[in-house]
Amino acid sequence: MANGQQLMADSQSQSLKLKSKYRMTRIIDGKEIASTIKTEIATEVKSLLDHGKPAPHLAVIIAGEDGAALSYVNSIEKQCKGVGYICSAYKFPANVSEKDFLATIDFLNRDDEVDGYIIQMPLPKQVSMDKVVAHVDPKKDMDCFHPINMGNLLLGNECYAPATPYGVMELLRRGGVETSGKNCVIIGRSNIVGKPLAMMLLQKDANATVTVCHSRTENLPQVCRRADILIVAIGKPEMITADYVKEQATVIDVGIHRIPDESQPKGYKVCGDVKFDDVAPHCEAITPVPGGVGSMTMACLLLNTMKAYKAKAKSEL
Ligand code: NDP
Repeated sequence: MANGQQLMADSQSQSLKLKSKYRMTRIIDGKEIASTIKTEIATEVKSLLDHGKPAPHLAVIIAGEDGAALSYVNSIEKQCKGVGYICSAYKFPANVSEKDFLATIDFLNRDDEVDGYIIQMPLPKQVSMDKVVAHVDPKKDMDCFHPINMGNLLLGNECYAPATPYGVMELLRRGGVETSGKNCVIIGRSNIVGKPLAMMLLQKDANATVTVCHSRTENLPQVCRRADILIVAIGKPEMITADYVKEQATVIDVGIHRIPDESQPKGYKVCGDVKFDDVAPHCEAITPVPGGVGSMTMACLLLNTMKAYKAKAKSEL
């Protein structure tokens, strides 16, 4: 069996096991939803190519040897290939000069064949985040770094939403979770997850009543127990237990961690910010880790790239 097919079979079998273990709880299968999105994109790319059009082109800039960042970039290259996109990765050593790094952004801004790009975090210390943001072209900003895109997100205008919150919104929409009128509590106020997600849930197409919590929130379990939909993006492995969850709530776990575990064949287990076994029996629906939000992040990056491709094609008419 090909590697990809084996991974798919493993994921389906994991999903089936979870579904039978938690009979009363709906497991929202991010991998399956992401796979549907990628199939839709691949069909669209095939049609573009059949009509003699170029394939969408995503570029990635990365500096340094951070393992998680490199594996994310490798995964982007693989997923782009899978749907028929062109992917260019600009990989620099950790000591790349700020001048060269910024020159690469300028080069991608000018390159008409590139539809969009992302700049992988963390940046090396000699490269200023402020300068990077100032060089990013909002039209090619696939990760919503630029204040113009973030401002448009806040105003509810058309923009490139950051891939992870976009992934959560698609997961809710395609996973059949109603947000309108619901109490939605987000734990985490980062610029890449919590804050943009709160803005997206507030917009008139989602209509949620939103509370955003953080490390200074008092009575956190009590606040969380008011949630019809609890979205967790804290970065603390398995912190959220059943004490934080209202009966029959929907729980979306954004967190992703590798925890050393000698009982596992690879010596580690992958888990989220939610203690799944403790929380799942109390939920109406829950996302697993892996196989939840993480899969959606990549799919939504691909969706943003297609959107940029179409916007460019329209502007060339
Ligand atoms: P950050 O570290 O930037 O933000 C964490 C947030 O959680 C902060 O707002 C922090 O509060 C809050 N927080 C931390 N501890 C507590 C606590 N004890 N009680 C209440 N709030 C707390 O993380 P990110 O937003 O970047 O990521 C969050 C998680 O999501 C991580 O596990 C990350 O790996 C994962 N992630 C997953 C992605 C995916 O594709 N699946 C993509 C991006 C992230 P304060 O602001 O007060 O410090």
